Formats: sequence, structure tokens, C-alpha cells
Amino acid sequence: MIKERVLTGDRVTGKLHLGHYVGSLQNRVALQEQYDTFVFLADIQALTTHFDRPQLLGQNLNEITLDYLSAGINPDKATIFIQSMVPEIAELTVLFSMFVTVNSLRHNPTIKAESKNSSLDELYYGFLGYPVSQAADITFCKATIIPVGEDQLPHLELTRKIVRRFNELYSPILMEPRALISETPRLVGTDGNAKMSKSLGNAIELDSTKEEITFKIRKATTDPARVHKNDPGHPEVCPIYAYHRAFRSHDAPEIREGCESGSISCSACKQLITTALDQLIEPMRERRSYYAARPKVVEDILLSGTKLARDIAQETMSEVREAMGLNYF
Ligand code: ATP
Ligand code: MG
Repeated sequence: MIKERVLTGDRVTGKLHLGHYVGSLQNRVALQEQYDTFVFLADIQALTTHFDRPQLLGQNLNEITLDYLSAGINPDKATIFIQSMVPEIAELTVLFSMFVTVNSLRHNPTIKAESKNSSLDELYYGFLGYPVSQAADITFCKATIIPVGEDQLPHLELTRKIVRRFNELYSPILMEPRALISETPRLVGTDGNAKMSKSLGNAIELDSTKEEITFKIRKATTDPARVHKNDPGHPEVCPIYAYHRAFRSHDAPEIREGCESGSISCSACKQLITTALDQLIEPMRERRSYYAARPKVVEDILLSGTKLARDIAQETMSEVREAMGLNYF
């Protein structure tokens, strides 16, 4: 039986953080045991907001590859590839863009939220259209299981629509994917923003030292209504409580009760989560230093993964051309 394919990518806009870990990466690590898993570095997609800073991409690409390997992506089981080195994805994007309406992109809630948060002065064509390129990222290798955070749901819906439309217009060769949402589909930022995000400066990165974790948790927002230690708190508005739920779920009900009754202080709460996060990251540090000391090994992982992805992409493109009648000679 052919194994189903899993695929997700990350924009190379900065190092990966705890939000990526609970939202998607942890699932990818688990899924690689059972499925044919693809993980990719979305450098073209990063350009949609970083086209004026392309020099950042190479540096981030290396850091994110180390993030993958240190979080437990096993290069013997999963394929890691670089988006721009599979140009068939761009080709497929152009073909899909013919039957996607501008209005459906303009009304996409994630596009709306991101363009509000972004530093871009205008709505750019590449940015508006990135959900179409995501559809090509997914369909070139016929991936069906997409472990992503909640912000990706509108994009997945669009991919499904594109697949149905393509199959109906030309020939049923593409596969409809489904999103796999984790138990923490959206981790809040340390500043209380609804999403921990590379671009918002409110993240705890997966390569953090104990000191960095301690500092960021100490600085993190808590319930503003809790001025004195014994004031009753409102855990649902506190990012620290959200972290307890995501990373210390066994103890979360007790923390909730302690916060609501004012019997546990914010600093005690922060201490507990700092220790838990440090314990989570500790084994990642070891794997990171192993791979960081072996740049040639890392490069080979990327080159062989990209080659495999490209072979698959070329096969799919020849089916797509055939389906659309584009193979003239
Ligand atoms: P950027 O701000 O540059 O877009 P990002 O932090 O949103 O960066 P992406 O590379 O866009 O990261 O997202 C990669 C994957 O990680 C997506 O599946 C996304 O849903 C997931 N993800 C990112 N941040 C979070 C979060 N805070 N909680 C849950 N999942 C997240
Ligand atoms: Mg994003």
C-alpha cells in the first residue's frame, strides 16, 4: 500500500519557536514514523513580506534546518527540501492562479490579519497570492495530511477548492488535502498577542538558553487585573496560563484554581513554566549542537531532500501538462 504523504513548511523569516512546536512541529515528528513526511523551507513565501531583505533568507534557512533536526525531524524518515529549488512549484502556482479569484484572496481572514500586522505599505500581488502558491506546495507531491496551526485553515480550504476545480476542469489527478490541527492550534505570544509569531517579536525560540527563557517568561504579560500577589486572577487572559495548558497540561487545573483563588503568585507560576520549558528544550540543544558542528551533513540532507522533491514535482508536472493539453510535441 502507498503511504499517505504529510507536508508542511515554514517561512524562513526567523527561527522557529514554541508556537511552531505545539502547533505543527510536534505532530510532524510523530507523523514521520507512519507517513511519507515532507518538510520544507518556504523561502519564496518569505519573500512575499521580505523581498527587500533577501540576504536574511540564507541565514534563516540554516537556523530553521537546525530547528527541524533538533526538534526531532529525522532525515532518514522525512524529506527536508528548499522551496525555491523546486521551480515546478512556481510553475504550478501560475497555472492555478488562472482560476482563483482576487476576491476570494482579499476576503481570506488570514491574509487580512497578516496584512494588518505587517510592515508592508501596500497589498502586494505576491503576498495576496501566497495561498495559491501554498496550494502548489501541497499538491505537487500529492500530500494529503497537513499538520498546521489554526491560521492556515482558510488556506487549506482554498487548496481543497483549487484541487476540486482543477480535477473538474482537466482531469482528476490531484489529491484533496486535509488539515491536521493540534491540541494547541494557536499559541499566544509573550506579549499577550493572540499569536506567537516570528514577525511580532513575542516568541520563545527553540534554540533558547535557560537564561533567555527565564528572561522572556519574567517579562511576559500576565493578567493586568492582578496587581497584588493575592488578588484573584483570570487565567483565560494570561499567556502564562496558556503555556501551562500547552506544556504542563497535567497540572493546569491546579494552576487555574490557584490563580483564580489568588493562592499561587504570578512569579511562582512563571517559575514552574520556566523549568518545564527548559526541560522541553534541553534535548533539542544537544541535537542542535551535533548538527551545527557538521555543516556538510546538514547540506547533504537539504540537497538530497530537495532532489527527491524535485523528481516528484517533475512527475506531477508532466501529469498536469498532459491533463491540460500543454504537451504540444
Ligand atoms: P511569520 O510571522 O513570518 O508568518 P509565523 O510565526 O507565522 O511566521 P509560519 O512560518 O508562517 O510562522 O508558520 C509555520 C507553521 O507554524 C504554520 O503551520 C503555522 O500555523 C504554525 N504556527 C506558527 N505560529 C504558531 C502559533 N503561535 N501557534 C500555533 N501554530 C503556529
Ligand atoms: Mg505566518
